[in-house]
Amino acid sequence: MRVAVVPEFQQRMKHGGQTPGYATGVPETDVSMNGALFLLTVNFLIAQLFCVFFLIISKRSRIPAAGRWFAAAFAVASLSAIFEVIIRYADVDRLASFGAFSSLFGAIFMIRLGLGRLYAVPLNVMATASIVGASLTLNLLIYDLPRSTVLHSLGYQLPFAVAELICAAAVYRSGRRETADLTLMGLLSLTAAHFVSKAYFAVSFGAGKDAQAYLASTYALVSQSLGAVLVIATGLTLLAVIVVDIMDDAKASSEIDPLSGLFNRRGFNERVAQILGRPLSAYPHCVILCDLDHFKAVNDTYGHAAGDEVIISFARMLREHAPPGAICARFGGEEFAVFLTSTGETTGDLFAQGLRNTFSSMAFPGLPDAVRLTSSFGVAALSDGEIIADAINKADGALYDAKKSGRNRVNRTRHDAAIDFEQWQAQA
Ligand code: GH3
Ligand code: MG
Ligand code: MG
Repeated sequence: MRVAVVPEFQQRMKHGGQTPGYATGVPETDVSMNGALFLLTVNFLIAQLFCVFFLIISKRSRIPAAGRWFAAAFAVASLSAIFEVIIRYADVDRLASFGAFSSLFGAIFMIRLGLGRLYAVPLNVMATASIVGASLTLNLLIYDLPRSTVLHSLGYQLPFAVAELICAAAVYRSGRRETADLTLMGLLSLTAAHFVSKAYFAVSFGAGKDAQAYLASTYALVSQSLGAVLVIATGLTLLAVIVVDIMDDAKASSEIDPLSGLFNRRGFNERVAQILGRPLSAYPHCVILCDLDHFKAVNDTYGHAAGDEVIISFARMLREHAPPGAICARFGGEEFAVFLTSTGETTGDLFAQGLRNTFSSMAFPGLPDAVRLTSSFGVAALSDGEIIADAINKADGALYDAKKSGRNRVNRTRHDAAIDFEQWQAQA
């Protein structure tokens, strides 16, 4: 008898929710309706909260536009709750139903626009415009079809499912596979499946004879609860994706030297630790320390800005010459380090010789054309199980020797010194 109850209920709600004769006992339909109204209010407030969260967090983000699109999406999605309340209290069902549909549908596409910015996945404008146009037209066309039929239910739910899948596809196409990205992809796909299942349940259990009856149905209650859970989960995951992005960005900038664009000591140590954590390779790894010769004189003669240009040029040379997998860093001042993976000391020595040669023939912006500079190098291979700090100390010793013996040269670890010491011990 739901059909008979609903208009009466609607009447009652229009008069402050009070109806004479309802002193005891509440019909089941009223419970559903109050429940649905409660959920709509909760959904509205949650969407508004997410909107505020995204606006706050987008200010810190590398890509503020993404967060703003998500904020706009939640603001627009919250309108759908308002439209659903209008359906209940006003006599503009067709318009309000279309409003409820298009605000939620539009919100999903705003999520897609935000994802496009966040993941750098462009949107096919023509295809999107066609899908949006077709979906809105379809929604208007199915309004008069009998509800709880396959045609009406699918016609209503499929566009949502397609829009969610388009969002999931954007995350997939980005190629990013962090936990937050995979969770987001999963949730978007699950939400798409949820919309399709809604069509099935609407047909199986009945979604009400009209828009108002739908809102009073238990189906609406279940459907809106499930929807709310998925919306919250998606909103939180989107926030997580942005927060992870902000944290990655902060970490990257704390590991990069701004002048040279190379890793700083912290970034160098972090990358090297990752490599040393892998199984041992056939050749030992190798570390090279470089220090520009008489650099103080460059600053004193040509100025600090010219000195900076020399540092930038040296860093560029390192980047251009370093083999794949090498880690180049500026340790500070005019000191640099290169970590070569699976490269014995001999090959490391040859590489350093190449760098020394190239640098000694380079000209620099801000310095007279004829000016040439030189650099000294210390090379050390990592023995089995050796920690990087010890290898750097060895390379530093070799570099010190290179400076002492006239600069503009490459020096290897002082094996000879160790042998001499053993001989000396034997003789003693
Ligand atoms: P050596 O051949 O023995 O290495 O002599 P040096 O003059 O290169 O060595 P020293 O360590 O005495 O000088 C390094 C200079 O590097 C001192 C400092 O003013 C300069 N320096 C440190 N950081 C920067 C920087 O970021 N930019 C510039 N332009 N100069 C820097
Ligand atoms: Mg120097
Ligand atoms: Mg120095």
